[in-house]
Amino acid sequence: MINLVTGAAGFLGSHLCDALLAKGHEVIGLDNFFTGSKDNLRHLRDHSHFEIIRHDIIHPILLESERIYNFACPASPIHYQFNPVKTIKTSVLGTINMLGLAKRVKARILQASTSEVYGDPEEHPQKETYWGRVNPIGPRSCYDEGKRVAESLLINYQQQNGVDIRIIRIFNTYGPRMALNDGRVISNFIVQALRGEPITIFGRGEQTRSFCYVSDLIDGTMRMMEQQEISGPVNLGNPEEITVMELADLILKLTASKSRLVFKELPIDDPVRRKPDISLAREKLGWEIQVQLRDGLQETIAYFKKVLSVH
Ligand code: NAD
Ligand code: UDP
Repeated sequence: MINLVTGAAGFLGSHLCDALLAKGHEVIGLDNFFTGSKDNLRHLRDHSHFEIIRHDIIHPILLESERIYNFACPASPIHYQFNPVKTIKTSVLGTINMLGLAKRVKARILQASTSEVYGDPEEHPQKETYWGRVNPIGPRSCYDEGKRVAESLLINYQQQNGVDIRIIRIFNTYGPRMALNDGRVISNFIVQALRGEPITIFGRGEQTRSFCYVSDLIDGTMRMMEQQEISGPVNLGNPEEITVMELADLILKLTASKSRLVFKELPIDDPVRRKPDISLAREKLGWEIQVQLRDGLQETIAYFKKVLSVH
């Protein structure tokens, strides 16, 4: 089966390509290399079932494929806020182009949506039925509202044009191949700890997140694509909730680092709490978390040690 993966050179996209190829599928990757890297795909260079095309999804493209995984979009706040209008175009025009393609070639399309559609939530943990609390004019809105429009586009292409859709809402995911300069909390803390630099806690570190290891997320993504019962949205994430301060302590312990903590201003609209309710994924996809936070962090630390040549 031919699978199209947008954002293939990114953190999640590259792991998805690996997993699809391991199942014997053909994979065509599209990427504009804004936050992605050829290094993430170097090991696939000579793979007979893989090709990568430099392409920006805000422009249409015509390709044969049976499955489209729409993962193209910068995911880290510093990257998606670098050029907010471009971020909106990627989610809106990019998703329209991928839906147009899906309609034309009769492919099934899965959209990588996000827990950010819940904004700074009043409901805890977050279920798929919750509508969210997003500031439409805040600094995160280019990402959050873009992703909300993308969900609406999928639902409306399904209803109006009969396109076969799937939507997943991804909660914070981490693992090897996160970019060094990615700016997200786990890569920041590990890189800082390994370099002996201060650990940057935003606010007082009391905000919570729930971190999912990349292999679990990719497993859930592929289960969602290939089941026939529901089109989503479905939450995918690890329900184990942890404060940013506890995360810093854990990473300092696992890296045996002597880095000190420094406190920085909390970014505007930074959600206070986030934790997925994953009952739907459990029931409909038979999906369970396999990798506990401590184990996933060990793998990620080992990866960054290699990248930084730290022993
Ligand atoms: P990433 O930044 O590592 O990867 C995104 C990839 O998309 C990069 O390779 C980038 O170059 C590419 N890209 C961006 N704009 C593009 C465009 N206009 N045309 C073509 N390619 C483009 O991020 P990631 O963590 O791998 O996230 C992948 C997807 O998953 C994103 O859609 C993101 O919103 C979603 N997501 C990720 C997380 C997470 O915790 N990692 C959480 C929620 C949702
Ligand atoms: N954060 C932090 N220090 C950092 C980077 C992030 O304290 O160096 C905090 C950030 O304010 C947020 C949490 O960690 O509360 C997760 O941030 P990230 O950017 O990884 O993801 P998101 O906010 O999109 O969930």
